[in-house]
Amino acid sequence: MRTINPEANQYNLVLLGPPGAGKGTQAERLVKDYQIPHVSTGDIFRASIKAGTALGREAQKYIDAGELVPDKVVIGIVQERLKESDTKAGFLLDGFPRTVPQADALDDFLRPAGRPLSAVINIEVDPEILVTRLSGRRICKQCGAVYHVATKKPVQDGVCDHCDGQLRQRVDDQEETVRKRLQVYAAQTEPLIRYYQEAGLLRQINGDQDINRVYQDIVHALEALAND
Ligand code: ADP
Ligand code: ADP
Ligand code: ZN
Repeated sequence: MRTINPEANQYNLVLLGPPGAGKGTQAERLVKDYQIPHVSTGDIFRASIKAGTALGREAQKYIDAGELVPDKVVIGIVQERLKESDTKAGFLLDGFPRTVPQADALDDFLRPAGRPLSAVINIEVDPEILVTRLSGRRICKQCGAVYHVATKKPVQDGVCDHCDGQLRQRVDDQEETVRKRLQVYAAQTEPLIRYYQEAGLLRQINGDQDINRVYQDIVHALEALAND
């Protein structure tokens, strides 16, 4: 386990990248090794849908269509989550921000609180690979762990290695919705690369490598940060 240098900036991190880049996969390991909470807006919505809450019903319309949940809704949820004390010593945002207004709202929230972002890790993957990644993705019904039919198989077919939960395909990982999500990414989320580059926060990671290599590259980027 890596410990955070108390003198250095805390790890207030964002994982950026198109759907299927490997954000969730890398987050699973990062949050264990760095002992920071994983804040995934996609996971929050899927949990609300499962629980049948009003938020879940609202979000599901957008998610199933491959569209973004409105900024106002998402921003409120993330702000509430970042007010919880476990995020004070760092956090890993996964899937947020996804639009410029979300990024502005995040900055407006964190900066006055004296806890600005430390870095934005952008996982880059060739768009052609993304469709294969997403259509082969399987997630655990119970704990949300991420698998792939070809590149990350569980030990036992269809069963989660962590909790014995059943694996399933996400409704929005069907090919037609995937294409829509990739368009939405290009139009609404990709501009954040430039946004964070200009803010001096962006760290580029080549996501077209095996899962362990991608992880090592992220760890190196974070180590460089701690030594800054
Ligand atoms: P992926 O892991 O494939 O990138 P996510 O699990 O992050 O997908 O998100 C699934 C869906 O949840 C998105 O397609 C979108 O509808 C909704 N969603 C998640 N995060 C956000 C966000 N920050 N803003 C708007 N919608 C979001
Ligand atoms: P995101 O959260 O960015 O949408 P995921 O972490 O859910 O992406 O990964 C999408 C799919 O690709 C999953 O099925 C995952 O197992 C697989 N995957 C993730 N990283 C890699 C990689 N480096 N090489 C091959 N497959 C990967
Ligand atoms: Zn599981």
